[in-house]
Amino acid sequence: MSACHGNPQQPAATIKPHGQPFWLLAELTYKCPLQCPYCSNPLDFAGQGEELSTEQWVEVFRQGRELGAVQLGFSGGEPLVRQDLVTLISEARELGYYSNLITSGVGLNERKIGEFRQAGLDHIQVSFQAADDEVNALLAGSKKAFAQKLAMAREVKAQGYPMVLNFVTHRHNIDQIDRIIELCIELEADYVELATCQYYGWGFENRDTLMPSHAQLERAERITNEYRDKLAAQGHPLKLIFVTPDYYEERPKGCMNGWGQVFLTVTPDGTALPCHSARMLPIEFPNVREHSLRHIWDESFGFNHYRGNDWMQEPCASCDEKEKDFGGCRCQAYMLTGDANATDPVCSKSPQHHKILAARTAAEQPVNTDFLYRNERNSRVFYKG
Ligand code: SF4
Ligand code: SF4
Repeated sequence: MSACHGNPQQPAATIKPHGQPFWLLAELTYKCPLQCPYCSNPLDFAGQGEELSTEQWVEVFRQGRELGAVQLGFSGGEPLVRQDLVTLISEARELGYYSNLITSGVGLNERKIGEFRQAGLDHIQVSFQAADDEVNALLAGSKKAFAQKLAMAREVKAQGYPMVLNFVTHRHNIDQIDRIIELCIELEADYVELATCQYYGWGFENRDTLMPSHAQLERAERITNEYRDKLAAQGHPLKLIFVTPDYYEERPKGCMNGWGQVFLTVTPDGTALPCHSARMLPIEFPNVREHSLRHIWDESFGFNHYRGNDWMQEPCASCDEKEKDFGGCRCQAYMLTGDANATDPVCSKSPQHHKILAARTAAEQPVNTDFLYRNERNSRVFYKG
């Protein structure tokens, strides 16, 4: 039985128009040596079921390719914790995927990078918490992580991969944006994503301690743009991608390019989701142990539920922008209003938009570091058994 966080009685699925999954995200494990307070993993991850075996993952990959998926992301938790990662990479290569490892770099070493390369891994993305040891340790809950990340970013590049770094920014590190960019230049990074943290999972619990003020955000974007201009003038190859939080927007993002349209996530225990946060919704999602991916994608209740527009309430139902943003994020609507069918409160037309405005006001308060860290002990509080 797959995870269900609410009403177990689900009506039969109505099959609605949809494309094929382009992206398959394999969340191999929820185990992770770090404790980032912005982690998007479920709060109750400590109570999740048994992880899929190597054979079960390979079968998921095979079925994913049959459905048309071409990109495969290995994520977690920390995917390096899985002892069978080399096997999974080589099976993915055999099946013809373009594969990407999303890692904190903790647990990586020169030998492993070489093995991954030989097994056919196409891309490695290393995530950082900050531009210095102190803030990195505060955020990651680990004192050794920063030096390890630096060494591994360099090693990834030395072994012929492009250096792709991800810095999750928030009110504790966003003022270091110039130092972060300087560090990336020094490391000879090729692509850097400066992504303001998203408020899902642990990030939502820690939102008031993580959300930058409007002034912080504006400054960071201005500095990033100045660096972009400078780098372009020098013909420098580094590409900077700045991702703003939708809490400072008046319209929501077009979540996952539409529910069940191009993206398929499989969690460590085999639950299949249209996005990595959807497990929190009061909807039953299917499990790959019980159903084929084709059945899951085409026919399951969970994947059909928010396809199309007929589930929408006002103001989305009669809005001329609904094809653009699909009413926003279902998880955000649920977290902020308790109703997964509601208009995403990020939208200024939402009757609940005041909740976003209140979060912006809270972000103007003095900074504190009273984090709820993402770890097993804290997760058990959310896991009701
Ligand atoms: S965000 Fe941090 S705690 Fe969460 S999986 Fe990634 S490295 Fe681990
Ligand atoms: S009302 Fe709904 S469809 Fe219209 S812009 Fe807002 S979120 Fe999008």
